Amino acid sequence: MRQPFVAGNIKMNLNRAETTALLSAVAGSLRQSASSVEVAYCPPAAHLDVARAALAGSAVRLGAQNAHWESKGAFTGEVSPAMLREAGCGLVILGHSERRTLFGETDADVLRKTRAVLEAGLDAVVCVGETEAERAAGATEVVLARQVVGSLGGLDIQDPRRLTVAYEPVWAIGTGNTATPEMAQAAHRVLRGELAKALGAHTAEGIRIQYGGSVKPDNAEALLAQPDIDGALVGGACLEASSFLAIIRAGEATARR
Ligand code: PEP
Repeated sequence: MRQPFVAGNIKMNLNRAETTALLSAVAGSLRQSASSVEVAYCPPAAHLDVARAALAGSAVRLGAQNAHWESKGAFTGEVSPAMLREAGCGLVILGHSERRTLFGETDADVLRKTRAVLEAGLDAVVCVGETEAERAAGATEVVLARQVVGSLGGLDIQDPRRLTVAYEPVWAIGTGNTATPEMAQAAHRVLRGELAKALGAHTAEGIRIQYGGSVKPDNAEALLAQPDIDGALVGGACLEASSFLAIIRAGEATARR
C-alpha cells in the first residue's frame, strides 16, 4: 500500500513573511490532527531558511524546486544537492515542465540531477508529462515512455519511497484544465508500466506517482481515488493554507478506503 504524498510547489511566489505565514498555518493545522498523507512544501531556494523554521517540529517535509548535478564548483547561480540538504531539505522536485520548457532541461539533465540528488541522500520528485500538441497527436504514451527511460533509466533504486514521479500534463499546469480522473489514471497506468520496464516491477509498484495540473479542493478527491494516483503535486492551490489542507484531507479520505 503506497502512502499518499501531497507536495506544494510554491514556484517563484510569496515573500518571506508570506512564506512563514502559509507554512506555519499548514504545519499548525497538521500538528493538531496528524495526517495519514505525506506532505511537503517546496519554496524558492532563497526562502528555505524561513520555511525550515516554520515547519520545525511538524511532519511537513521541506523540499527544493531544482538542484545541480555537481556537488560543488564553478557553476554560477546553481545550488548543489548537498547544499540543499544542509539547508534542511529532504527532497527535490526535478524536471518540472517549466524547467524543461523555459530553461531547456533535457531528459539527460534530469537523469544526472536525479542521480545526484539520490546519492546526496535526498528524495526526488521527477516530473514528466506531455504537451497539448503531443496529446492531440496521440503521442502521450510514447512521450511518457521516452521521458521515463531518459530521466530515470538505469537508476539503482533500493527504496522506491525515495523516488516519486509526478505526472504533470503540460496543458493542465496553471491553466485550470485538469485531466479527468480517467485520463489521469490511464496515464499513470502507462507510467507504472514504463517504470516496471525501466526499474523492475517490484520497484514500480512501490513508487508513488503524483498527479499535477490544476489540482484544487473540488477535484482532488476524484483524482486521488484512482488506483494508480498516489498523491498530488500542487502549484496554485498550495499558496492558500485552506485549499492545500483541503487537498491533503482529500488524500486522507482516499487512504482510508
Ligand atoms: C505545478 O506547477 O507543478 C502545478 C501542478 O501547478 P498548478 O497546480 O498551478 O497547475
